[in-house]
Amino acid sequence: MPYDISTTRADLIIHGERVPARSGRSFETLNPATEQPLAQVAEAGVEDVNDAVASAREALTGDWGRMRAADRGQILLRFADLIRRDQDELIELESLDSGKPVSTIRRQDMPAVLDTLTYYAGFADKINGQVIPARQDALTYTVREPVGVVGAIVPWNFPMMIGMWKIAPALACGCTVVLKPAELTPLTALKLGELALEAGIPAGVLNVVPGFGAVAGQALVDHPDVDKVTFTGSPGVGRQILQGSAGNLKRVTLELGGKSANVIFPDADIETAAKAAASGIFFNSGQVCSAGSRIVVHNSIREQVVERLVARAEKIRTGDPSDGDTQMGPVVSEKQMGRILDYIRIGEEEGARLVTGGARAMERGYFVAPTVFDDVRPEMRISQEEIFGPVASVIGFDDEDEALAIANGTSFSLAAGIWTNDMRRMHRFLRDLKAGTVWANTFGPTDVRLPWGGTRDSGFGREHGEIALENFTEPKSIWIAHGA
Ligand code: NAD
Repeated sequence: MPYDISTTRADLIIHGERVPARSGRSFETLNPATEQPLAQVAEAGVEDVNDAVASAREALTGDWGRMRAADRGQILLRFADLIRRDQDELIELESLDSGKPVSTIRRQDMPAVLDTLTYYAGFADKINGQVIPARQDALTYTVREPVGVVGAIVPWNFPMMIGMWKIAPALACGCTVVLKPAELTPLTALKLGELALEAGIPAGVLNVVPGFGAVAGQALVDHPDVDKVTFTGSPGVGRQILQGSAGNLKRVTLELGGKSANVIFPDADIETAAKAAASGIFFNSGQVCSAGSRIVVHNSIREQVVERLVARAEKIRTGDPSDGDTQMGPVVSEKQMGRILDYIRIGEEEGARLVTGGARAMERGYFVAPTVFDDVRPEMRISQEEIFGPVASVIGFDDEDEALAIANGTSFSLAAGIWTNDMRRMHRFLRDLKAGTVWANTFGPTDVRLPWGGTRDSGFGREHGEIALENFTEPKSIWIAHGA
């Protein structure tokens, strides 16, 4: 389906203006469902990032910095209204750019974008300090100031939603932002940048600089005038960001990968558990940091669960993302598809049993068939490494200790699930599973009110919830001496 993406839309947004890259360079994005060119996007280089950071620095102390907190909240609510007004266009753009089905974006991403923005808009005038009566001879209290210029670096799997996870709390706290979307999916970020300006967010408060990670992303990370980097992406790049941030000791939040276990006991409702396990791994073509990629099943019910998983995998309607009935689209790029197919080959070589899928689907586009491996051993690479595709690994266990050891036995700890109706066992697992989020008798829901993030290879810090405001504020202690 052709889409008229104007050249202005694909320019950078710096200091309230749509501008080409200083180098004049641009890059092409493809529609992953058709492999056809989609848009020509200005490619931010180091100079453009410098311009964006300078503009964000200036904007900190301008109208934005002087604005009443309540007015800041109102502007963010207007921003939400404009997103709602243009949601059809945003949904279509996101689908064309990423391959996500429009139905998924409409049902899941778009409501989450709006929920995140309105939730944090409400906090703008509630970021309070504390009066701490430390002394009799002084008034002592704290205020919470914006951390400053925020570099927000975003992946391609939920471009708009994860972008908003960063923009909304940063702006609510009075920070200014330079947003670097993923090079594969820059279009909705640019549209959000335009809407922010229309909403009355002053020039320079939200700059958008599409470009490549090693250049534009790294420039943001290395920049001495960026106070904070909030990053979602792969553990490898997370490590680079941590090193790069050492220059000016900027603050960093890292939301990285996962290899989440979904543990099913025989006393669970098997039908519901298998259904949730299937959507836990196949949703968004498995390109989800918290995908339930390891389905850890008691051996007494493994056959039943695998049967149900396979039936569900084979029923998923894969195809044109713009068709409202499509449940699964392509993966985001040829490279990602190749990586997934490599892992499928590795799984077979390691001796796991391929039960369904295992190959490209459709004649055109980067589609991978929903894939299930049974007889996976915990130490296999397909059980340890993040595939980021629609590939489920089923691992059997015989007792509770073994299940827990398998569930906790990777370098990640972002999320995990447990299915049981034994309350004592459930509580033991909720206590012992090493993950930032643990689900019981469900798998996958998130809500902006609840903290989200992990530890170890899943990163550190939390997004979502009131706690995320700490990412974007610095406490200042104030001491006014008045005598005894
Ligand atoms: P990626 O790390 O390759 O890229 C993420 C972003 O970082 C992109 O914008 C990219 O341009 C940029 N980048 C790349 N190199 C950079 C550098 N040297 N300096 C600064 N920025 C750089 O990740 P991806 O392939 O886009 O996304 C997939 C990964 O993201 C997976 O590992 C997934 O688990 C993770 N992820 C995590 C969460 C979460 O909430 N924890 C959510 C979504 C995705």
